[in-house]
Amino acid sequence: MTTARTLHRPPRRPGLILGLLALSQVGVAWLWWRLGWQVGLPAMMATHLIVVWATLHPRATLFCPALSRLPTPERVVWLTIDDGPSADTPALLDLLDRFGARATFFLVGDRALAQPALVQAIRDRGHGIGNHSASHPDLRFWRLGPGALEAEIGRSQSILTAITGQTPRWFRSVVGMTNPFVGLSLKRHALARVAWSARGFDGVDCEPAQVLARITRDLRPGAIVLLHEGAAHGYNVAILEQLLAWLDAQGYRTVLPEPP
Ligand SMILES: [Zn+2]
Repeated sequence: MTTARTLHRPPRRPGLILGLLALSQVGVAWLWWRLGWQVGLPAMMATHLIVVWATLHPRATLFCPALSRLPTPERVVWLTIDDGPSADTPALLDLLDRFGARATFFLVGDRALAQPALVQAIRDRGHGIGNHSASHPDLRFWRLGPGALEAEIGRSQSILTAITGQTPRWFRSVVGMTNPFVGLSLKRHALARVAWSARGFDGVDCEPAQVLARITRDLRPGAIVLLHEGAAHGYNVAILEQLLAWLDAQGYRTVLPEPP
């Protein structure tokens, strides 16, 4: 497998895209001035549509690189579990142990602060811990400016580091959204963004068999699987159990991209 060094890629020049965005609007103004609104207006709308698409589309990498799968032909997958720690965490850890599996938990800083023992249990049992913001502002994350993003990402980083003694290296965007400023904080904290290649949309329709069918439809060697914990529907543990049984039956192993 490719080494962790090449998989872990924090944004290197996050200011570049901000400069290009500013430049594109200078270009739009120039077109509007020289050729009139008939050209200027569509040009402005086109550039804004690109910004909206790149912000809202979870796998868009215009504003910030993202790892969406592991480059390997081996039958391995990286399980990622978002939104914890939660009341589900102990049961998830027991399940992972029972199947000899490993996962990375993308934790919400404020929830970690409220339940540090769960965070330590995740670390002690050999799993990875990633940063999933401090307060999980799911309705606002896409429109946060650089200061608010730094508060979310930097604060979660401090909380998780204080509890575990290890600084997280991976970041999962809230609801998958990434605006042009996210890269600035990721670079500051040497965080690499992780997207996914298989997901079950378990927040939309949570019936475990159907969630499993959607995940396994997209499951290939090197897949990064998006899972959740603590959802109000209460099926997150059942979903992981069925997935682990399926992976076992299909001869898949779980891996982390680097030692936890
Ligand atoms: Zn989340």
